[in-house]
Amino acid sequence: MNVIVIGAGILGSVISYYLSIRGANVTLIEKNEPGDGASQVSFAWINSRDKHPSEYHELNRKSVDMWSGLNNRLGNKIGLKTGGEIRWTITDSGAVNLNKSVHLLQSTGYPVFLIDKSELQSLEPNLISEPLTAASYSPNEMTVEPVRVIQECINLAGKSSNFELITGTEVKGFVLEKNSHIKSLITSSGEMECDYIISAVGADTTDLLSDYEVNIPRLYSPGATFFTEPVDNIFTTVSAMHSPRDRKDVLMNIRQLLDGTVQIHMGTDKFPSTSDLKYSDENVVELATQYIPSLRGTKIVEKKQALRPMPIDGQSVIGFSEKLDNLYIIMTHSGVTLAPLIGEIASIEILEGARVDFLSNFRPGRFI
Ligand SMILES: Cc1cc2nc3c(=O)[nH]c(=O)nc-3n(C[C@H](O)[C@H](O)[C@H](O)COP(=O)(O)OP(=O)(O)OC[C@H]3O[C@@H](n4cnc5c(N)ncnc54)[C@H](O)[C@@H]3O)c2cc1C
Repeated sequence: MNVIVIGAGILGSVISYYLSIRGANVTLIEKNEPGDGASQVSFAWINSRDKHPSEYHELNRKSVDMWSGLNNRLGNKIGLKTGGEIRWTITDSGAVNLNKSVHLLQSTGYPVFLIDKSELQSLEPNLISEPLTAASYSPNEMTVEPVRVIQECINLAGKSSNFELITGTEVKGFVLEKNSHIKSLITSSGEMECDYIISAVGADTTDLLSDYEVNIPRLYSPGATFFTEPVDNIFTTVSAMHSPRDRKDVLMNIRQLLDGTVQIHMGTDKFPSTSDLKYSDENVVELATQYIPSLRGTKIVEKKQALRPMPIDGQSVIGFSEKLDNLYIIMTHSGVTLAPLIGEIASIEILEGARVDFLSNFRPGRFI
């Protein structure tokens, strides 16, 4: 079976890996270089917090549990950091909200715990913890480095003779048969035939498919992250921290990469803006220093921004198009968390013809 995967972000790469180890002939086409889209900007926190409704929470949860397996398959080279996530609040109303959300998560069996200041300090002795009103710790959450995941998937897929990566080639459209089947792809390097096509082009999905009456509406949701020069370990236990969500000024999410780079993401999904980049480098470091004093004087060396591949209803799009029978579409936020699950399941659905029941609410046909 010949499968063309369009887009070498984390999802296209993981899917290509699973398809190629299961014997499909896979061509992965990327318009720029692998990892050029949202994946390299991502905060890459692997979690199932604040994911509603329950089916979406469960979907993310299943995938969180699959990350250590994928890490093993990829030779433990992908910067997977376990240790969990901490956050705290500084107001009484913030504490009420945190307590509520922790109890709600616990009622689903999600491992997250309310902790007091001394427990927070024993997890992270070097972190300045201002007077706090509540705190939580979710020990099973992780972070990963999407660029390393992409690289390892491509390396391992490339070890088989049935995989090819084509970079610098943009898919411009499709040649259709009987208006319901893709016969070939029109690319900037010519036409290419195949049996199945997987569209994993992230935020470009809506535009790529709209000419073919495949409607995948997207929310406009830009996001940005800052990268520092490498520094010594900033955390003792955890892999990520979120600054108090009840602080009215700037929200910060902080993590560290394998090489010591600190990644700082300002804002959340609810405060998405490329204006995250309005903060000067000094300003960002100064703000981060209030949580991690050792960051004082550290230089920002890179800023990246991208559109989140966010479907209009905030839920994932995973599955075959109802309009074009050999087109499988992936567009999702939380695509880092969901990568192992989507990689595994897309390969089962495409190669085995199975239809996975728990994806029924996430099919592309819901937008017709
Ligand atoms: C600031 C930010 C923070 C985030 N934080 C998290 C987080 O903490 N946890 C989490 O799980 N998720 C997070 N996400 C979301 C997550 O990063 C994305 O869901 C995920 O990276 C999507 O991967 P992808 O492979 O679908 O898309 P992308 O990484 O965008 O890859 C798509 C690729 O397709 C290529 N392409 C596009 N059009 C074409 C074409 N016509 N022909 C050929 N190639 C094409 C692009 O060049 C790109 O390389 C965050 C996203 C952002 C922006």
